[in-house]
Amino acid sequence: MTVDTKVKAIHCSHFINGQYVDSQNKETFDNVNPATEEILGKVALGGKTEVDYAVAAARRALDGPWKKITLQERSKILRRIGDLIVERVDELAQLESMDTGKPVALAKKIDIPRAAYNFHFFADYITSVGTDAYQQDDQAIHYAYRRPVGVVGIIKPWNLPLLLLTWKLAPCLGMGNTAVIKPAEWTPMTATVLMEICKEAGVPDGVVNLVHGFGPNSAGSAISEHPDVDAISFIGEPGTGAAIMKAGADNLKKLSFELGGKNPNIIFGDADLDEVIDTTIKSSFINQGEVCLCGSRIYVERHAFQEFLEKFVARTKELRVGDPNNPNTDVGALVSKEHYDRVNRYVEIAKEDGGTIHTGGKRPEGIEKGYYLEPTIITGLERNSRCIKEEIFGPVVTITPFDMEEEVIMQANDTHYGLSATLWTNDLRRAHRVSHQLEAGIIWVNTWFLRDLRTPFGGMKHSGIGRTGGMHSLDFYTEQSNITIKL
Ligand code: NAD
Repeated sequence: MTVDTKVKAIHCSHFINGQYVDSQNKETFDNVNPATEEILGKVALGGKTEVDYAVAAARRALDGPWKKITLQERSKILRRIGDLIVERVDELAQLESMDTGKPVALAKKIDIPRAAYNFHFFADYITSVGTDAYQQDDQAIHYAYRRPVGVVGIIKPWNLPLLLLTWKLAPCLGMGNTAVIKPAEWTPMTATVLMEICKEAGVPDGVVNLVHGFGPNSAGSAISEHPDVDAISFIGEPGTGAAIMKAGADNLKKLSFELGGKNPNIIFGDADLDEVIDTTIKSSFINQGEVCLCGSRIYVERHAFQEFLEKFVARTKELRVGDPNNPNTDVGALVSKEHYDRVNRYVEIAKEDGGTIHTGGKRPEGIEKGYYLEPTIITGLERNSRCIKEEIFGPVVTITPFDMEEEVIMQANDTHYGLSATLWTNDLRRAHRVSHQLEAGIIWVNTWFLRDLRTPFGGMKHSGIGRTGGMHSLDFYTEQSNITIKL
């Protein structure tokens, strides 16, 4: 990555076998700052040729220097990567904001520290866990021996670029694999810097490789079709997951999918409404609503509905939308023109479906450039409206009243998605009873986004395949052989 500070042009190259390189045919594409619509710089456009080089380098490194590095040394390297991310937090937060449109302050508070913590967490975790071992009377001992899966393709979305890349890369390296990474085309910058950080931290050449480009017929599909890629760790939309699954079917790749969500946020009338609203503001609009875990379908018990609506609308109107560089900004720009148009189309659908827009639904006044949309609250939609069924992935929520517990559980589950759900109640038995019936991989009671990286994370139904976090990550990034020794 080269930065010309005078013209502020930032060029993102591939990183293959320890070197920044351009595409063989020198092709590039533009990287646009969604907050200003200015071109930030060029990004190398990779394809099959670059992916072939990257996979070959990853394969050589897997069987070469990386294999000889001990667990303790790998742990130290992970820790060093985390430390270097912390040292460069300001720069990384700025780049993340320029790529995504998110507030710099948010990137500095959440994205970049969590990216560092992903490495710090797995640096400790890999040295502290054991493996399965069973004694069968005096007859035999069985134990599981772990080895790396091999070359892993890591294909990423644009909403939390460095946070999500490091969530996969840290356990991948920790368990001795090598990686070929493809960042999302709209957000190439922090992944490019991470390669330099990995090298500085002592990751041998070829262990991490990065190829920029698009999805279909480009770097993305070249990775998922590649016969010498053993596993794919993918985060993105369910449709893309299906395409990757088909592409990898011929050589039976191991897959980990973290996909989209249309998550219910269920508010029972006995909950503390002020606490609910504080958290629901975040779970609705943080990161412009571009978080897979956002609770974009809000259900409120009917007797609390009107009070909730009034207070929630008032608080939403206080959110400051605008320049991501302003430390007081709450909501920045959406990631791209294409995504901005898509989210706006859902606002139009809500109107066509007879919904009422209580606030938002338009560009903030006085902002001429950039892909900004005011936080938007919609009520009055039927349960089959596309705004209730489909993932909007923007600062748009729907609110629906309910009368009965069974009814809200049925509505919450009435979707192909099953990523997360939030539940607000002070009734302990109801908290357990409802949680056990919600079809979601992650369920929060009286909170949202509270994570412990040891716990299983992932979605059911069309929201994912497999779980990550703690031992679940180690299971994905290793192959286990059960060894039985007769005594
Ligand atoms: P996307 O599926 O469009 O793209 C994700 C990545 O896949 C990009 O790098 C893209 O270039 C690549 N890609 C696209 N088509 C491909 C193909 N045919 N073969 C190989 N690669 C291909 O998703 P997005 O728009 O970047 O991200 C938003 C989605 O990600 C939302 O659905 C969101 O909910 C989901 N997401 C899920 C989680 C989670 O943890 N479950 C986290 C963040 C985002």
